[in-house]
Amino acid sequence: MGLIPGPAFECTIVGASFAGLSCAMSLAERGVATQVLERKADPGERLHTTGVLVRDVIDDGGWLGELPRELTRRIDGVRLYAPDMRSVALNAPGYYFLATDTPQALRWMAERCRQIGANMRLGATYTKARREGDGFRVDGFGRTSYLVGADGPKSRVARDLALGENRKFLFGVECEYENLEIAEPDRLHCFIDRRLAPGYIGWVVAGVGIAQIGLARRAAAPGAAKAAFSAFIDKIAPVVDVRRIKPSHIRAGYIPCGGVVDPVAAERVLLVGDSAGMVSPVTAGGIHTAIKHGEAAGRAIAAFAAGECDDPSRWFVETYPRFRTKRALRWFYDHFQSDLAFNLLIGSRPIQAAARLVFFHRLRS
Ligand SMILES: Cc1cc2nc3c(=O)[nH]c(=O)nc-3n(C[C@H](O)[C@H](O)[C@H](O)COP(=O)(O)OP(=O)(O)OC[C@H]3O[C@@H](n4cnc5c(N)ncnc54)[C@H](O)[C@@H]3O)c2cc1C
Repeated sequence: MGLIPGPAFECTIVGASFAGLSCAMSLAERGVATQVLERKADPGERLHTTGVLVRDVIDDGGWLGELPRELTRRIDGVRLYAPDMRSVALNAPGYYFLATDTPQALRWMAERCRQIGANMRLGATYTKARREGDGFRVDGFGRTSYLVGADGPKSRVARDLALGENRKFLFGVECEYENLEIAEPDRLHCFIDRRLAPGYIGWVVAGVGIAQIGLARRAAAPGAAKAAFSAFIDKIAPVVDVRRIKPSHIRAGYIPCGGVVDPVAAERVLLVGDSAGMVSPVTAGGIHTAIKHGEAAGRAIAAFAAGECDDPSRWFVETYPRFRTKRALRWFYDHFQSDLAFNLLIGSRPIQAAARLVFFHRLRS
């Protein structure tokens, strides 16, 4: 056992999104005084995610299992398009995704945290923290015994406290359309194209009451992604034609794809979610890991607050995913992605088997 925390233990979490709110929920449920700093006045506004959840979020038995049903829509399979637009349908019996009304889902999560006792400070921007005694003084927000950086891919907490920072990114652009019907709405439509989406894919999803069309590629200037997105809209017109439809929302953002940062923690401070680089380098999905490890970080910090274990920055972060296989696959895709190969092999068994492993979350490491 290490330090015995003082009686007035308080945890400050920066960021009220999937990672921060899951951590806050876990801490507040265990009676730890928790404040969440979120720079936006509304955690559901200005999101940068498609918000598709993998089934595992529900299977894990965590709090998102209680997400109201009207905020989700089940998606049972994938249609994968080769660069020449020929496609294959992929299914895995029993596996599904959930499209979400993400703004409402995040508002629901924030409200649950507030109800359980977390101090939700919305419109509160973290600017700086400095060490003070057994904790930190956070500029404008008082003293805290523990600090959690859940502030996204370009984490200020990480920079400020000399923790590792994400260096490798994909950049995603997505438009949302109202009243748009798409064929096969129960599938995630994924498009491979090395010219438009090098290093990743384009996608079409029938979400909850809206349709989302997006594209992510190896990080270049945001302008390049926007130009590629326009060309993508033209290309997919035979599947879904939005060339003359104005999107109701446009969003864009960085997706870390280089694996967990180093160091990801220091005494009494740890990163979780995108700030920690906790995004699958293959699927670019980060919501499941943000929720799972956010909740677990909350449990570990609560145990520390109760004097039951050593500082989680010394042991808990060892449980973070290392993504060894996925990083190797990302390297391979970055170097050998070939439109010709996908055009030739899209119907072949090995390509379909590999795609099932990737999409249906069967690659665990
Ligand atoms: C276009 C796009 C589509 C995506 N689609 C999917 C998908 O369908 N499924 C999936 O699993 N993953 C997807 N991802 C990845 C996923 O969105 C992230 O992995 C996930 O949002 C990570 O959650 P997080 O809580 O770690 O961080 P974030 O969601 O980035 O949240 C960080 C929070 O911190 C706040 N914040 C930042 N700085 C400060 C500060 N200084 N003070 C106070 N608050 C601050 C922000 O306002 C924000 O609320 C997508 C990403 C992009 C860019």
